[in-house]
Amino acid sequence: MKYEIDKQFLVDCFEAFVNAPSPVGYYVKVNPVVERYAGMFGHEVTYDNKQTAYITLEGEDNSKTVMIGAHLDTIGMIVRRIDADGMIRVRQLGGMNFSSAEGATVTVHTRDGKDYTGLLACQSHSVHVFDDARTLSRDETNMMIILDEKIKKREDVLALGIQHGDMISIDPGCQYTENGFLKSRFIDDKAAVACTFAMLKYLTEHQIKPKYRTILAFPHYEEIGLGGTYVPPEVSEFVAVDIGLIGPDYNGNEFAVSICAKDNSTPYDYELTSRLIEQAKKAELDYAVDIFYRYGTDANAALKAGNNLKAGAFGMAVYCSHGMERTHIDGLVNTTNLILAYALDI
Ligand SMILES: [Zn+2]
Repeated sequence: MKYEIDKQFLVDCFEAFVNAPSPVGYYVKVNPVVERYAGMFGHEVTYDNKQTAYITLEGEDNSKTVMIGAHLDTIGMIVRRIDADGMIRVRQLGGMNFSSAEGATVTVHTRDGKDYTGLLACQSHSVHVFDDARTLSRDETNMMIILDEKIKKREDVLALGIQHGDMISIDPGCQYTENGFLKSRFIDDKAAVACTFAMLKYLTEHQIKPKYRTILAFPHYEEIGLGGTYVPPEVSEFVAVDIGLIGPDYNGNEFAVSICAKDNSTPYDYELTSRLIEQAKKAELDYAVDIFYRYGTDANAALKAGNNLKAGAFGMAVYCSHGMERTHIDGLVNTTNLILAYALDI
C-alpha cells in the first residue's frame, strides 16, 4: 500500500527550507525553520552541542531507538581574503562545482547579522576582455565575488562589516514546474528534509506512532563528512535520507527512491538494506538499488566515527548533483513513503 502524501506540503516545506541559507556550519537561519515546522505538528526541537536539531518520536516499543537523518547544510563558501580592488576571494565549504555556480547570486553573511549580495564570477569574467575567459579553470584560485555595492577598494568592503571567515551562501534558484519537476541547487538535502517533515505530518494526522522510538536528526556538517560523527548513544540504526544519483551505472531516476547499497567507502548494513528493499517492495514503491560512487552520507560518517550502529541510506535521485539539481515530485513522494515504511516497519 502506498501512503497518500501531501505534494503541496512537500513543495512548500522544501521552499521554506531551501530559502533559509545554510552553508556548512551556518545553522543560525535554518534551525528556526526546523522549530517552526516541528511546532506545526506539536513537537519540540532539542539540540546537541554541534547544533544538530532533533525531534524525538515515542514509538509503540521504546526498547529500541532508531534515527532518520536529513542534513540541513549545503555546499557554499567562506571569505578567504579581500583584494585591494574590493573583490572577495573564497574557500569552498563542501564539494563546490564552480563551473556550475559561475554567474550565481551569492550572499555574504556578516557576523553582526548583515547580508550583502554579489555575483560569483571568474577573474577572467568577460569574453570581450580576457583571452582565457572560456578556458580558465573555475576553481578557488580563479573565482571571486563582485559585491552588489559601490566598491572601489578593500576598505569599502571592510566598511560594510565584511571580514575574513564570513559565510557565503548561493542563491538556491528554486523552480517548480506545473508537471512536477523540481529544480534547485540544494535539492541535496533540503528535499530530504521536506520528505522527513511530510512523514511527520502523515504520522501526526493519522495519529500513528512509529514502531520504535524514532529520532529525526538534522545535522549541519554533512557536506564535509562530519554531520553524523556524533550520534546519541541509544541509537542502534541510522538511516540517512540523502540524494540518489543518476548516471550510466545507475538504475535510479528522478521519479523513484534510490536505495544505497554501497557508497564510496562502505557497503551499508546488509540486513537493514535488505529490509529497506523489502519495505519498498511491500509498499509498492517505484524504487531502485544502486551503489553510489563519489558519495558519502551522515550514516557513513557515523560508522567511520566508531558509532555502534547499523547504517542505511536512500533518497530521491537528482540530475547534476552539486550543480543546479533536478528531480521530480514523484521521487519525493516515493522517498517519503519509504521513510514511513521504514518507521512503521511494514
Ligand atoms: Zn547530501
